[in-house]
Amino acid sequence: MSGLTFKERFIRSLERKEVDKVPVCSVTQTGFVELMELTGSKWPEAHYDPEKMATLAIAGHEIAGLEAIRYPFCNTVMPETLGCSIAKGSLDTQPYMLDHPIKNKEDVNNFYVPEKLLESNRIQTMMKATYLIKEQFPDEVPVVAGVLGPAAISCYLCGIKNYLRWCVTETDIFKELLDLGTEVCMEYANALFDHGADAVVIIDSEAGPDLLPPPFFEPLILPQYKRLIAGLNGHSILHICGDATAIMDEMAQSGFEGLSIEEKTDLSSASRIVRDRACIIGNVSPASTLLAKPPGQIKKEAKQCIEDGTGILAPGCGIAPRTPLENIKAFVASRDEFYREKGLV
Ligand SMILES: [Zn+2]
Repeated sequence: MSGLTFKERFIRSLERKEVDKVPVCSVTQTGFVELMELTGSKWPEAHYDPEKMATLAIAGHEIAGLEAIRYPFCNTVMPETLGCSIAKGSLDTQPYMLDHPIKNKEDVNNFYVPEKLLESNRIQTMMKATYLIKEQFPDEVPVVAGVLGPAAISCYLCGIKNYLRWCVTETDIFKELLDLGTEVCMEYANALFDHGADAVVIIDSEAGPDLLPPPFFEPLILPQYKRLIAGLNGHSILHICGDATAIMDEMAQSGFEGLSIEEKTDLSSASRIVRDRACIIGNVSPASTLLAKPPGQIKKEAKQCIEDGTGILAPGCGIAPRTPLENIKAFVASRDEFYREKGLV
């Protein structure tokens, strides 16, 4: 058991099989300024240049010690491909949306997904980065790609005001957008698997209680997730920001192997609800802990996560760009310390 590679340990954890220790990695964004400076692969270029993207993602493993290679570093690949206008961001801010293509109900009927979706610049950048990462790490480290889920894609396309209004007043239109989101998410994720990604993380916080009232989750979102899972050709993780406790049971029914939760979701309660239906991933706070606290405190909180039953020790959400490298190293080191202190190694 102790001879497991990082990839074997990660996949076995997702499959809820026995492991010697929980993996420690991030399934959310891993780019931070110290790594950018050490590698010369900086934002914003690393969002658009496959070599820089691969270099920065690999640094999260080789320099910081995270036990997965996770990319990209933003959520705008699919929105830009589908016609949202995007600002590139800077060294320490992610790209963000300036404008969205669907302004009103009529625009939904006139909206078409680009015919050669997978040939868009940004998706091609992701495919090339996947290839470059796999060339260096063909089998021993899990390669994990983040993609937006159906709710997030819908929300990007129609804007947050329409999204919140239409889930109540225009259910048919809302469902149409979700259908579209599920289809493009599936096509893109499967192309990533074809290029060698070992797992995809479906980022879909717009389906979570922070935005969508929990009673809408089961009728509107759960069927989309089940369809998505049925069509995905590889390992899958769902990431929902905020406190997801109210929909945790439905999330566990969705079929995702991993559920990545933020620190606002209580990990012990989540474990009790989910039981053996999925691997819980999280949930040390990236902002109030990893960015801001001293290494000793980071280790304490990380060990508590393992104690509380996390299946994969990870930040609750994306790593903040100004997080000190020393803090991420302390976070990684806490995992082995936990098992040593318990006399388990
Ligand atoms: Zn998040």
